[in-house]
Amino acid sequence: MKKIRFVTSEAAPLAKTGGLADVCGTLPLILNQQNYNTSIIMPWYKNLEAKKIDRSIVRLGNEPRYAIYGKTTINGVDVILIKDQQFFNREEYYGTDDGPYPDNDRRFIFFSRAAVQYISKHDSSAVVHAHDWFTGLVPLYLRSRYKRSRFRSVFTIHNLQHQGIFPASSFYLSNLPAYRFSPRWTEFYGNLNLMKAGITAADRLTTVSPTYAEEIQTQQFGEGLEGVIREENKKLTGIINGIDTEIWNSETDPYLEEDEQFSASDISGKKRLKSNLLQEYGLKNGSDLPLIGTVSRLAQQKGIDMLLDMRQELSRLPARWIFLGTGEPELEAGLKQWEREFPDRVRAVIDFDEKLAHRIVAASDIYCMPSRFEPCGLNQLYCAQYGTVPVVHRTGGLADTVADFDESDQNQATGFSFKNLSPENLKKKIEQAVNLYDSKPATWKQLQQNGFERDFSWKKSANQYAKIYDSLVEEMK
Ligand code: ADP
Repeated sequence: MKKIRFVTSEAAPLAKTGGLADVCGTLPLILNQQNYNTSIIMPWYKNLEAKKIDRSIVRLGNEPRYAIYGKTTINGVDVILIKDQQFFNREEYYGTDDGPYPDNDRRFIFFSRAAVQYISKHDSSAVVHAHDWFTGLVPLYLRSRYKRSRFRSVFTIHNLQHQGIFPASSFYLSNLPAYRFSPRWTEFYGNLNLMKAGITAADRLTTVSPTYAEEIQTQQFGEGLEGVIREENKKLTGIINGIDTEIWNSETDPYLEEDEQFSASDISGKKRLKSNLLQEYGLKNGSDLPLIGTVSRLAQQKGIDMLLDMRQELSRLPARWIFLGTGEPELEAGLKQWEREFPDRVRAVIDFDEKLAHRIVAASDIYCMPSRFEPCGLNQLYCAQYGTVPVVHRTGGLADTVADFDESDQNQATGFSFKNLSPENLKKKIEQAVNLYDSKPATWKQLQQNGFERDFSWKKSANQYAKIYDSLVEEMK
């Protein structure tokens, strides 16, 4: 059995703020159905239950700290949790409304180092798979301190926008030799950049879609690291995320009532579900109109502000809108404002609610996702499971997974996508979708069926990761 260690700041269902958690919660399970022994290492956040199994001293600069290790499982996959008296026993994972926690450098340098110490103590050899900036030092510690015949690393970029940039003075917390603080490894315009550490030190680099893998090598999407990524592009692969097709499944979705569940061949349950949802949320006279849904972090990245700017015109369309999301206060307030202006047509639920997320994705006819950039995106994949037709900006994973109605064969098209990001182009595509829904039911049905036929399960993607792990195991021999 090949040993794989995931090191991550979140894994569903134990801790989740976004797609990173879905990937880290599901991929290990799929790998373990093959010839791998995969486990997860993550912080021991508040309220997580686990059995204490080990402890060690982890140095953070001059300061020795105690790491306590606990063990639990997610769907049969072992999870090692790392506790520190102060760092993780907090209400939030990364920060509050006032901003990121000011000691995030200490928290995640500590976590990365404690994870590597655990692995080196318990594994004679392993492939270590680290995720996003929180764990960017993991590949560098492995490379710096251990024989290459014991450990190799994979680093995955889930979102390049957040890089973990700290003042140069934070570098001493890592106890790495001074030469590692150079532009070759971790230095970024005089600061410490933990994402860069992962990118430069890992043996393989992946990101979550082929298009995003190309985009991050350009100035437009590279967030300043495009040059570094171009340097490393021989080790870079884009692998689209899979989805958990047991949970996101129109026939068995536990968040739908039995008579609201439906299949590709009989979608009458979808109509009942939509009608129930419209009623629950006070959206009037909408049964025959398309329901447009969005479930999202409310961040600049997601492009919701463009909808808000056009809300007067959009509200005139024969459609109903439902939003679920939390995030930036201006976007939350903007959606609430839109709801106040058009109370019969628009509902904005400011919350994080797994059940409602499922119900919106399943009930909607159209799903709107105008992200400025989107490394992979999950909701457009979920939509395909429910006959929900996405309208997206053609970027990153959205470009790889939604086939545009105008530009694809009618037997292939799954939604609507526009290339150049602008409010006008977005509006045109929404109008086109609303129009088609109304005027050409047979064509609409075809789009839904094309979606149902797509296979976004983890199997294909897991095989691509497996190939990478296998090549690293070969190199260690
Ligand atoms: P990102 O990771 O950038 O937030 P993704 O599309 O990759 O975007 O993943 C977002 C995940 O989080 C999806 O599973 C989505 O359904 C979920 N999600 C986002 N906001 C909410 C919310 N308010 N309530 C429930 N689930 C949400």
